[in-house]
Amino acid sequence: MKKNDIFEIEITGTTDEGDGVGRAEGMAVFVPYALVGEVVRVIIVKVLKNYAAGKLMEVVKPSAYRLKSECEYFYKCGGCRFWNVEYSAELEYKRQKVEDCLRRIGKIDAEVPPVLGAKDCRGYRNKGQFPVSRDGIGIYAQHSHRVIDIEGCIIQDANNPDVLKTVREWMTKYGIEPYDEETGEGCVRHIYTRCGDSGQMVCIVTNTEKLPFAENLVEMLRESVSGICGILQNINNKKTNVVLGRTFKILWGVDYIIDSIGDCKFKISPHSFYQVNNAQTEVLYSKAAEYAGLSGNEVVWDLYCGIGTIGQFMAKSAKKIIGIEVVEQAIENAKENAKLNGIENAQYYCGTAEGLAPKLKGEKPDVVILDPPRKGCEESLLKTVAASRAKRIVYVSCKPSTLARDLRILENLGYKTQKVQPVDLFPRTHHCEVVAQLQRDINY
Ligand code: SAH
Repeated sequence: MKKNDIFEIEITGTTDEGDGVGRAEGMAVFVPYALVGEVVRVIIVKVLKNYAAGKLMEVVKPSAYRLKSECEYFYKCGGCRFWNVEYSAELEYKRQKVEDCLRRIGKIDAEVPPVLGAKDCRGYRNKGQFPVSRDGIGIYAQHSHRVIDIEGCIIQDANNPDVLKTVREWMTKYGIEPYDEETGEGCVRHIYTRCGDSGQMVCIVTNTEKLPFAENLVEMLRESVSGICGILQNINNKKTNVVLGRTFKILWGVDYIIDSIGDCKFKISPHSFYQVNNAQTEVLYSKAAEYAGLSGNEVVWDLYCGIGTIGQFMAKSAKKIIGIEVVEQAIENAKENAKLNGIENAQYYCGTAEGLAPKLKGEKPDVVILDPPRKGCEESLLKTVAASRAKRIVYVSCKPSTLARDLRILENLGYKTQKVQPVDLFPRTHHCEVVAQLQRDINY
């Protein structure tokens, strides 16, 4: 097989990233936008050792689930993966992915129930990061840093087209230079947005300390974007793919938003993690609370607690919540949020879960909540948790493969995976959230 060869192949599977997989000349071929069950004509664009990358030329036999994309940028953008297929098929793909990871990586034979899907696949994101370049403002093209100029993003909140339009007009009117990744010159790198009950925050990420014509930007945004509560500048002068730098400056309004999940309110500073899909987060946390099975007498460790969300969501049914989180601003938010929610039985510590949990002497947990980032937990932390002999563990994960790896470690340490429930927090993308419940084996 070589580059530019053309094949007609049947798509029999889907990769972790949502690409179709077929075979030609005994080789696996990954084809973006091809769906399981389809016969497609592909041109080979790259041949690697174990697989080849193909480009979809023609769908010879379409899947019964194939749709015309509602998003006009779908085939160029690197964000979403599933606007060309019915949502039910996307959910089944996600369910299977979780089941496969548990079997293959975790050697866990759990039956995974249907994914709890979203009511709305559009406008659900409360956080946006739009790159700014000479080519425009918007999104990165797939596997690249080429910016595609967009009017608005279909999965982002309703204000995003107005924000993009206004910043674009301000840059043109006052001759503000976009940042150039190659040379490291220019000013505006990203537009970072967040929204919640208290309104819309807009943050301009700049390469320079000074933001020229900032007052004009403030004026234009306040006039054109509804419900604005804060306009910020973030300074990032490093040559890096990381979007945000350390320093935020308030240009107008406040440097936080307030949002609610169920009966709880949360103050969120721009550096703190917060789930991007509010409606589905409530579904996720409700499942986590159900899995925690609290009666009012339990000490709960809320590890990787962020701004305190999961623990506070269930604090009224617990004796005590102890939260650990590495980002300082998030811990500050968690403490404030406990007050905001009238919660007096929560304590928060700033540091790594693996570093601090072993030091929680005399605070033996009955239930442990784990909600790590994609890379999962350090093995040493899982050992600390197992040694605590907590009767239940609730593991919330945004990456099925690392969840499966960690569940295996916990099973080897005397826990048994009881239930697993995927929840779709990221409709139309390949990302998938899962919550699992483990119970300590009484014979262990
Ligand atoms: N439970 C929270 C946050 C989950 S995201 C919520 O549902 O909103 C994962 C969190 O883990 C982030 O806030 C991140 O800052 C934090 N984190 C990352 N590595 C960590 C570590 N080693 N120890 C403690 N917290 C960590």
